[in-house]
Amino acid sequence: MTDIASPVVDEKPCFGANPEIFKLGLGRQHTLCHEIGQGSRCRNESDCRCEGLDLHFWRKMCKNCGCRMDEHDVVLPNEFDHAQIVIGRLLVARDHFEKVMPKPGMLRRSEDEDIERRSREKPTAVYNFKMNGGVKGNDKENVQYAWAPLPDKDLVSRYMKCLPEEERPVMGSIGEQNRKSRLQYQLPLYDCNVEDARFVEQKDVKTLQSFVENVKNNVIGVGKVVEIGKNQENGDSFEKSMTNAMRGLKIGETECKDCCKKMENGDIGVECSHHSNIQDTYHPNCFRCETCKQLLVDNIYFFYKNKYYCGRHYADQLYPRCAGCDELIFANEYTFAEEKSWHFDHFACYKCDFKLGGSRYMTRDENPFCLECYLKYYAKTCGSCQQKIGPDEKRLNYNETHWHAEEKCFHCVQCSQNLIGKKFMFKNHKLLCSSQCKAAYNSANPNNQV
Ligand SMILES: [Zn+2]
Ligand SMILES: [Zn+2]
Ligand SMILES: [Zn+2]
Ligand SMILES: [Zn+2]
Ligand SMILES: [Zn+2]
Ligand SMILES: [Zn+2]
Ligand SMILES: [Zn+2]
Ligand SMILES: [Zn+2]
Repeated sequence: MTDIASPVVDEKPCFGANPEIFKLGLGRQHTLCHEIGQGSRCRNESDCRCEGLDLHFWRKMCKNCGCRMDEHDVVLPNEFDHAQIVIGRLLVARDHFEKVMPKPGMLRRSEDEDIERRSREKPTAVYNFKMNGGVKGNDKENVQYAWAPLPDKDLVSRYMKCLPEEERPVMGSIGEQNRKSRLQYQLPLYDCNVEDARFVEQKDVKTLQSFVENVKNNVIGVGKVVEIGKNQENGDSFEKSMTNAMRGLKIGETECKDCCKKMENGDIGVECSHHSNIQDTYHPNCFRCETCKQLLVDNIYFFYKNKYYCGRHYADQLYPRCAGCDELIFANEYTFAEEKSWHFDHFACYKCDFKLGGSRYMTRDENPFCLECYLKYYAKTCGSCQQKIGPDEKRLNYNETHWHAEEKCFHCVQCSQNLIGKKFMFKNHKLLCSSQCKAAYNSANPNNQV
């Protein structure tokens, strides 16, 4: 057996305590009712063994399998559709929303036009929409859609064909599941309602309220499903030609704002004219969040700086989001650790929820752990003394074996000399300094030779 060089002693501290976490305030405790979805099947079945969703008391995460709540097949009680809740809350102020002030230099629409627009742009979505027998020459289409953009079977049928199959919200299909997941991911209910935001402190409630007000009035909207070229003769034509002129297109031509391909008359498109007179048109499958690139669920968009986002990624640009509970943080002071933001109380041990503010912690798989849990679950055992190697202790390893980087643990079993920084042999779990010591050890221990 050849000599091997002593491995490098790893002296760097495993972690640093963030200075901010000493500024802790203790928030109030919250009692929650979170029966919704309890026991739901996890959809990552192949990778995880989940006995059913068991929601952590503030993490939006399953205690059984560690997957997110929206990765479970959460069935809301019948009267709930997540999207209806959002539309109800955020689009009730539709009238107000339509009175968005024109930007300087833009043409001001007359009051009459405003009224006309308002009457045209009410949300038109329908839920649990049955297609049976409705479409001419297509009697096979006996499906029901959990959501459809408008109650027009022909348009709905053509619209759905523009989407990949797994995104069509056909009841009982993977598409319906995907829509549910996208709803929960893109439109966190706690972003848009004071009652649902459990961890907003009293002093910050006003900030949340004005955030929600602004979303209602200036930000949220629903893309309109249209047949390209169909409404050329009416009020759209002025806006269309404005848009076209700005993009160097001829009158009557339409281009998808995302992929820039020309859209033909008769194609199905999604239109939004959120920002004053400019009208944007997208292929149905191109109408996606600028950040996460997911298809905007139910065509609900959040408009910000000339781009369309899902609710989550709109909000993320204005406020930090707690990596623990997933809610927005409106407080001025919060913890920033591991390149993420956390409510003070939510920077806590991933195993035991011990609040880590002001304490030292370890990180594993991007989750923080208190030292005790880290030791219990992840710390290495010393090959000599069989004790756990604490995160503060210098350590060294050779292949799969770890030691305390101290003479008492890393020495020759025969002559006891310190082997740190020296050549050594490691055989049969024994450390030796030289072949002389090896021979001496073997003759002294005939029944336990190395
Ligand atoms: Zn689970
Ligand atoms: Zn799971
Ligand atoms: Zn496109
Ligand atoms: Zn997004
Ligand atoms: Zn939090
Ligand atoms: Zn812990
Ligand atoms: Zn040891
Ligand atoms: Zn020796």
